[in-house]
Parts: sequence; structure tokens; C-alpha cells
Amino acid sequence: METAHRLIRVRFAPSPTGPLHIGGVRTALYNFLFARKHGGKFILRIEDTDQKRFVFGAERYIFDSLGWCGLTPDEGPEIGGEYGPYRQSERKSMYSSFVQQLLESGHAYYAFDTPEELDEMRKKMKESGVQSPTYNSITRANMKNSLTLPAEEVQGLLKAGEKHVVRIKMPRNQEIKFEDKVRGWVNVNSNNVDDKVIYKSDGMPTYHLANVVDDYLMKISHVIRGEEWLPSAPLHVYLYECFGWLDSMPAFAHLPLILKPDGHGKLSKRDGDRLGFPVFPVEWRSNDGKDIFSGYREQGFMPEAFVNMLAFLGWNPGSDREIFSLSELISEFSLERVGKSGSKYDFSKTKWFNQQHLRLKPDHNVFEDLISLNKELLDRHTKEYILSVISLVRERATFESDILLEGRCFFFDDVKFDTSSISKKWDPELTNNLTELLGQLFSIKNFSNTEIETSFKDYLSKSGLSFGKMMPMLRIAITGKLAGPSMFETLALIGKEKMKERITLAIKTLG
Ligand code: GLU
Repeated sequence: METAHRLIRVRFAPSPTGPLHIGGVRTALYNFLFARKHGGKFILRIEDTDQKRFVFGAERYIFDSLGWCGLTPDEGPEIGGEYGPYRQSERKSMYSSFVQQLLESGHAYYAFDTPEELDEMRKKMKESGVQSPTYNSITRANMKNSLTLPAEEVQGLLKAGEKHVVRIKMPRNQEIKFEDKVRGWVNVNSNNVDDKVIYKSDGMPTYHLANVVDDYLMKISHVIRGEEWLPSAPLHVYLYECFGWLDSMPAFAHLPLILKPDGHGKLSKRDGDRLGFPVFPVEWRSNDGKDIFSGYREQGFMPEAFVNMLAFLGWNPGSDREIFSLSELISEFSLERVGKSGSKYDFSKTKWFNQQHLRLKPDHNVFEDLISLNKELLDRHTKEYILSVISLVRERATFESDILLEGRCFFFDDVKFDTSSISKKWDPELTNNLTELLGQLFSIKNFSNTEIETSFKDYLSKSGLSFGKMMPMLRIAITGKLAGPSMFETLALIGKEKMKERITLAIKTLG
């Protein structure tokens, strides 16, 4: 069981270095679903220790994106909680004692190497055939650190305020293993992990230290994050060991990559720009004012559809069912059903999800949205009429705004004739027939769709004309184009008078 005996506490821990893209929101979603499913807590922690990469406004964007998706954290910045503060920059003073603990136990050491000395080391290693040289259990013996320098010299350098970092001292040839909820057992030899910097000269911890210390202090039970963090996991596990916290170490689950539509490589913002789809959930402008990312919200997607699409990027319910509300996802979700292999992102599928969710949206909610999209509607028509148009047209819409486009002929009288439809199907020879048909339809007493249909078919058999000839003529006259919902229902809805006006006008205009 994935949750035995533990209070479920999971976190989404983005760095505010830019707008959140699909992958980030998916991580948030899976954490959220897991927490809600098990009655646990979903925590938002802002990992802003890397001040150089900090981008103003990015944090606001994260809050807004999560809010739009309906993934509200239980604890986090602006919300608070027992384990705050929830921004790492505000926790700065908490990390130094943990670094001290590692230095004292001999699991970490000071390093005084300058950037030039580090470059020199890498250059030499490359010359002697090492492909990707690192600061590790071998190279550290030749560098300027508290393992190689005499103790008094180290004290002297520290006192003199010499620039330094603290590095983790990776052991030689030790097996590090952990069981990942998605990938199974992961075994790494410590020789393959370098002596990562855990504390920087600016007095800030690096991601690795802050992340592990905070997960421990915030009593995180499960770390659910993207696969790009899998290479860091052995170091994190080792840090738990050094601190003596292995008993309370969270379980790990590394989520599969989200791939480009063609399946080659990781999906990037550039793919979105190149292929014309949004990679971001909400529009955002960065502090230089240049980048405006048009997100799913701006393109008219419904959050429930976006979230449903995201859920399937790496997870499946084990059945053919595809349409889920957020609460249904909560009850179905499990880490066991998250796959190992990357998931291809398919933009057209996102549209399909939107169409499906739009179909599930109650008419009166669609009504509210439409009148806020076009304020004129309620001046021109009754609520009842607008609702009838919505129910007639909605099946054909992918986005709510499509209902306005598809429904144009119901809302506005100035029919726009589509030239390609006219050249294909408007036959001037049949205008007399159209006038005859109008006369017959106009005489119907109970102008309902069934009566209109009977009368129309009646006319066809009387005149010997085919459906394929007469229907397009009628449709062009009434709507201006060839495609649309049932013509009989359309006529019943717009009424006799409008039918007459439009057919008369079409014959006059198109001949
Ligand atoms: N700050 C990391 C990020 O930006 C968090 C990774 C993790 O969840 O451990 O994704």
C-alpha cells in the first residue's frame, strides 16, 4: 500500500524562474489528486534559493495558474500553515544549522576553489580522457578544500572571509538504493554522484539541501515530481542517511516525461510557439514586459478539460473511460497507474477534451459565459431564446465562443453569405422553387420542427426536386452557409417572419 501508516503530506515545489508550463502543472495536479484521494495535505512551497534565476511575477503566475485549474493548496505562501514560511528565501536562517551538522559529522566540507581553479581541474581531467569531469571522491584530493588543507589554514581562510562553498562528501563505492513508486528499485553507485555544492558563498543553501531539509521539516510523506529530478534522488537519499532521517524519508515517485507531439524529446515552450499551441495555463507577462504567453485560459479552454487532458499525460484509469471531472479524478487516481515511459502531447486531443467537457456543462452556465462574452445578446433576445440556441448549437462547438459563431444566424439578422457555399450549391434556376417552398412553409399553422419537416418533404415529392438540391438553397438563404444544426429546428427557432425576410433577401441578393 502506498500510504500505510503515514499522514499524507505532498508538496508542489516550483522555482519562480518563469511561467509554469504543462509539465509543472501536471506535477501539481498529481500531487493534488494524491493528497485529496488520501485525505492528506497539498502544500505549495516556493523554491527561490537561486536568486540569480528569480523572475519577478513568476510566483503570482504560479498562484493564478493553480487557482484557474482548481488545484488549491492547503498550505503555502499567502495561505500559511503550521510549517511555514513556505518560501525558501524566508527560511534562509533555518538551513545553516543543518549544514553545520553535516560539517561536524564529516559528511560535508568547505571548498575554497576559485572558478579558474575549477576550470583548470576540468581541463586537465578532459585531457586525461575523462569525458565529463566532476568534483568527486577522486578529484577532491587535489583541490583546495578542508579535506586537503591543514585545519589552521581552513580556520584562517574562514576568518578572513575567503569565498567558499560547502560540498557534500560522497562516499567511495557505496550502493545507494531506493524504491521509486513509478520506476521500481533504483540503484546507484555513489562513485557516480559528484560532491554537489549544498551551501553557497552567498549564505544560501542550494536546491538539494533546502529541498531535503524542507521536506523533512514539513513532514512530507511523498515526493512526486518530474523525471528530470531522478538523477538528484540518490544524493537526496544520501542526505537523509547523513542526517539520520532515513526512517522518515518520503517515498519518491518520478513522473514520466511529456514528449513533443512527434514523440522525439521533451516538450518545450518552443514547440508550442512553433506549432501554435499554448504550453502555459494562464497568460503571463514577465518583468521585462516582452514575453506574453497566451495560455489555455486565453484560448478559451475550460479548466476542467485542461486538467482532464493533463491527468492522462502519464496516468490512465485502467479502462477506456476518458472523461473525468476533477472529483472523479481524485477518486480514480493512483500512483500505481502512472506509467514509466514518456507521454506524447497531442494538442488536438486537448480540443477534444474541451468539446466533451463543454457538452457536460449545464446550459445555464454556458448562458452566463456567453452573455459575458457578448453583452449585446441580452439586449436583443430573451434568456429563453438564447438558451434554446445554446441547446441547438452546442453539440457542434469545441469552445464556448464557437456557439456565438455557429449561432450567429440566430442572434443577428445580417446574414453573411459565404461565397464558397454559394458557388457550390446556390442554383439561380431554383429561386422560383424556393419562393414556392417559402409559401408552403409560411402557411404552416403550428410552426414546429416536425411540421416543417413534413411540409418540406411534401414539397420535394410534389416538385420532384431532390433533398440535396433544395436543402442547401434553403440553408444558404437562412444562415449564409452550408453547415449547421438541423434546418427544421433552426426555422422553428427563428420563426416564420424571419424565415420570410431572409429567403426574400437571399433571392434578391444572390439572384
Ligand atoms: N524546485 C524544483 C523545481 O523547480 C523542485 C523539484 C522537486 O520537486 O524536488 O521543479
